[in-house]
Amino acid sequence: MMIRTLVSAVFLVASLGMAAADEPLPAGEFIIRVYYPDIASIERLARYDLHEYNNQAERYVRVSGNADVYRQLEREGWRIALDEEATRAFTQFLPREFYGGYRSVDELYRDCAAVTAAHPAITEIVKYGESQNKMMGGEKHGTTNCAGYDLIAVRVANRQVSGPKPVFFLMANIHAREVTTPEMAMRFLDWLTRSYSTNADARWIVDHQETYIVPTANPDGHFIVSLHDPPYTQRKNGRRGGSAYWPPNGSQQYGVDCNRNHSYMWGASGSSTAPMDLTYRGAGAASEPEVSNLEAFVSALIPDQRGPAPSDPAPETTAGILVSLHSYSELVLWPWGYGSAVAPNNAGLQRIGQKFTTYNSYTPQKASQLYYASGDSVDWAYGALGIPAYTFECGTTFIPPYGQVDSDQWPRNFPALVYAA
Ligand SMILES: [Zn+2]
Repeated sequence: MMIRTLVSAVFLVASLGMAAADEPLPAGEFIIRVYYPDIASIERLARYDLHEYNNQAERYVRVSGNADVYRQLEREGWRIALDEEATRAFTQFLPREFYGGYRSVDELYRDCAAVTAAHPAITEIVKYGESQNKMMGGEKHGTTNCAGYDLIAVRVANRQVSGPKPVFFLMANIHAREVTTPEMAMRFLDWLTRSYSTNADARWIVDHQETYIVPTANPDGHFIVSLHDPPYTQRKNGRRGGSAYWPPNGSQQYGVDCNRNHSYMWGASGSSTAPMDLTYRGAGAASEPEVSNLEAFVSALIPDQRGPAPSDPAPETTAGILVSLHSYSELVLWPWGYGSAVAPNNAGLQRIGQKFTTYNSYTPQKASQLYYASGDSVDWAYGALGIPAYTFECGTTFIPPYGQVDSDQWPRNFPALVYAA
């Protein structure tokens, strides 16, 4: 009986595999499940458009691609399957939603200016650099010229109350296509400033903390996303490459992945050296102005509180925290992401990470459990400065219907952000 069952199971697996290979694949882009033997092997997918998603129960990750990508994965020996459910979610909502609600860079900056004009005593816009396209004197994407942008943060703090005060650094949208994240950063800014006079939490945060909110850490990339309906899936910055990589898609696009370009452990596992790849790490550590200026800015706000060796823990009294908003997968991630090594402050990082998830009901985990990713913002913030740093992977898809920001992502993450502050 046992033998018969085993034989049937083997036959079933073999015939399923056969069917998948013979079936016509969808036209255009779709989502592929790639089953992995162990976490480290995901590293071999660095040149693919790997979603920030990892189903650990069934041990698969998701990759965007077309039929060519599917066949290539097959040739490389991966066990794969078409993820019909995720493909539906991915394609169904792309048309028409961006302009139906998601703000462009100009709209984000306009609204930041409006907030600071309305609340001059507790807010100011701080320019911390210029985007790559602006430094180039503008850049053409397709037929549209992008003049580039200032890199800005809104500082929220009551200057009448003297410091020193701990810094909460909230950044969004370093991955351009993760378009719910600027919306959440803006909602936090709105809440802090509007509720200052009526809400005890908001008042305490504004009086006793310094909060910096970066609505988009990658404005050139966000500009590219907003150029098209359905939105382009630009993940990286606007550093122009060959026209062969225009328009951007989930397999190839020009630009540098700013979240693989940070200087701490730059070039380790989980980043690509190929310029068209989605996780292209750039020509050197912090080569991109979006990254080098961010590092300089945060370093000037928050002193380094950790020793130089990878094994040096930061003291329990370490002040400051950084949260980088991403999508998707409903996770809260802490360092290290660059490899399986455990951070010297892992217990403390885990404790705070778990606390966040009591508010947003996401899953807490060390970043490398999603997959290895080196040169990201949170590894840098903890590695270089010793501060607790977290990636929130919000929602369940890159570009959900705009209404999901207010029906799900914001209400769940708002109390977690209040806790962070
Ligand atoms: Zn991301």
